[in-house]
Amino acid sequence: FLAGKTAVVTGSNSGIGLGIAHRLAAAGADVVLNSFTDRDEDHALAERLSREYGVTARYIKADMSKGQECRALITQAGRCDILVNNAGIQHVAAIQDFPVEKWDAIIAINLTSAFHTTAAALPLMRGAGWGRIINVASAHGLTASAYKSAYVAAKHGIVGFSKVTALETAKEPITCNALCPGYVLTPLVEAQIPDTMKEYGLSREEVIQKVMLERQPSKDFVTVEQLGDTTVFLCSDAAAQITGTAISVDGGWTAL
Ligand code: NAD
Repeated sequence: FLAGKTAVVTGSNSGIGLGIAHRLAAAGADVVLNSFTDRDEDHALAERLSREYGVTARYIKADMSKGQECRALITQAGRCDILVNNAGIQHVAAIQDFPVEKWDAIIAINLTSAFHTTAAALPLMRGAGWGRIINVASAHGLTASAYKSAYVAAKHGIVGFSKVTALETAKEPITCNALCPGYVLTPLVEAQIPDTMKEYGLSREEVIQKVMLERQPSKDFVTVEQLGDTTVFLCSDAAAQITGTAISVDGGWTAL
């Protein structure tokens, strides 16, 4: 039902972004994949989407830590009916030891990039008379964990930014929502396992069950397919009046 629509998904050469791109393409949308690299395998991901779903898929390199490149991504895409702001990084450290450059990078990539892409995409959505913006926040957009100051600040920030975007588009056929996943076993999370194993002297399975899924009552990871399908739902007519909300897909985390 998304045939004729173009979706731009930031940070989509792996993990959740790629999973969302797959589901949007399966629903018929043309897709623009993105990350900051420009490798053959990045373009191959887009070719695979075209082949698998018979849609137009392109990979466009743009560094989401740079405002001009965020805006250029939307300009180069040409159309942007669905914008998924998904690019994100993590760094874990106590506030007094938190490297300033990591703080700046997390705020830029996880929060400010969405301001730039949204500013560039809204005129295109208004021109087309329809739009959907899905900002990938986190359970950490609604709750906090120690040692994740920049991430939690950025994710709370993007939940707030989603509400403002919803209010500024409320009278138009454009919606904006924040998607708040709990733990998903993507490369971003996989990368945290070895350090946590060392820090607490735990096995891989113990880190997963006792540390990662400790706050996820379902004791199971969220999947990228579930997040992709939630995104597709937010693009449907059923969701036309869902705007300015934070949708939790977190196995009960924020119910605790
Ligand atoms: P991931 O590392 O697999 O994906 C992150 C994506 O962002 C990658 O495609 C990466 O290339 C891209 N990216 C990083 N820096 C970039 C930059 N400067 N410019 C452009 N792209 C850049 O991680 P993921 O788990 O799929 O995370 C995707 C989003 O989901 C992030 O915003 C993350 O905070 C959020 N999230 C993840 C989880 C989880 O448990 N994995 C939970 C809640 C929210």
